[in-house]
Amino acid sequence: MQLVLATRNAHKVDEIRRILADAGLTGLDLLSLDRWPDLPDAPEDAPDFEGNALAKARYVYAHTGIPAVADDSGIEVAALDWGPGVHSKRFTPEGTAATNNLRLLQELEGVTDRRARFRCVLALVGPQGALTASGTVLGVIGHAPRGSGGFGYDPLFWPDEAPGRTMAELSPEEKDAISHRGRAFRQLPALLRRWGWT
Ligand code: IMP
Repeated sequence: MQLVLATRNAHKVDEIRRILADAGLTGLDLLSLDRWPDLPDAPEDAPDFEGNALAKARYVYAHTGIPAVADDSGIEVAALDWGPGVHSKRFTPEGTAATNNLRLLQELEGVTDRRARFRCVLALVGPQGALTASGTVLGVIGHAPRGSGGFGYDPLFWPDEAPGRTMAELSPEEKDAISHRGRAFRQLPALLRRWGWT
């Protein structure tokens, strides 16, 4: 059974492949979107993670004819009215981890409520319709980046479940165990079973 992973983010692809392998999902040929280099990026203008994940998966299924799984994820910060959320990737015009993290630190200068969460919604789209699942990890935003693992906002995010370390200081397996993406994608085998696929 073939399934296309509807993202070009290499970090995400690695994480998702690892999470699904650890979840014991076998018999699935997980294709990367790299096989369709000319396919323009999917629209990503929904107001929430679920809308974007569904739009990406629907777009890739429509263009490849192969059932697709997409995720949309981001960081939500209490003091920023739970933003940047769906705008996490483009929090700065450059959209790099360095500029995004710097802006986040600047926005939180002098702010004591540093609660934040990562959220991920995955959408599975195929001939039987669409299914979604989500995952969240709670934590706080630090005062300076720390650690070299992971990607994006990981060096600024101190997960409640890993006291004393940032997300970027966890091993890949430790991150998967508590991450928003791990929590969402570990539900994928159950979604596939609902379609009688596994
Ligand atoms: P997406 O590709 O539209 O889902 O954008 C997700 C953005 O949210 C990424 O570019 C990162 O900035 C941020 N993000 C999502 N997941 C993570 C994570 O696991 N660690 C750090 N940043 C993340």
